[in-house]
Amino acid sequence: MKSQVIYFDFDRTLLDTDSLKQEQARRIAKIAQLSEEQVYQGMQQYIESIPNHLYFDVGGYALFLGNLYDINPSDVTKIYLTDCNYIADFLFPETLEVLKKLSREGYSLGIFSSAVPGHQKIKIENTGVLEYIPWSSVIISPNKLDTDIVAKIPNNTIVIDDDRTIIVELLEKHPHLTPVWCNRKTDEKIYGIRTIKNLSELLEA
Ligand SMILES: [Mg+2]
Repeated sequence: MKSQVIYFDFDRTLLDTDSLKQEQARRIAKIAQLSEEQVYQGMQQYIESIPNHLYFDVGGYALFLGNLYDINPSDVTKIYLTDCNYIADFLFPETLEVLKKLSREGYSLGIFSSAVPGHQKIKIENTGVLEYIPWSSVIISPNKLDTDIVAKIPNNTIVIDDDRTIIVELLEKHPHLTPVWCNRKTDEKIYGIRTIKNLSELLEA
């Protein structure tokens, strides 16, 4: 790889977000004495009440569930914001090893994440990836494709994302970046773009 800088999307690229969400629903159900199904339904209704899922806000969600099921919102917030060491267990198995090797090889690493910053910072902090990625190279925005947000990524950076739409837009509109699609789910590839199934492939070339 020619570029010496690599920025990673966070959810579903470095972190197995879907499995983490299952675990969080399980923990909320347990502490609030609800069924997991009730928690999923509450989440669904909350998401339908906000502009889109990228605007998910823990405080808002906790209040919403609190009102819906007459439970204490702080039981929900602590699972997301304070008692959350468990988040580290939900990195993809290769994530830390790949970040460690890339940083030892001299790559500068960053994060380029779609989310509301507050809760996302706590998620990122609790995973341990900041051992290899400085805060100054962490970009978090619910609208990360806005031109002023993309402009924060240094020129000639490799940008890795699981979201096909984001990869295609980076390719078409931001020629100073090199998008790489991390498609863990299918064998589909995008013409003209390197596609990987697993971050370990970054160590191969
Ligand atoms: Mg993603």
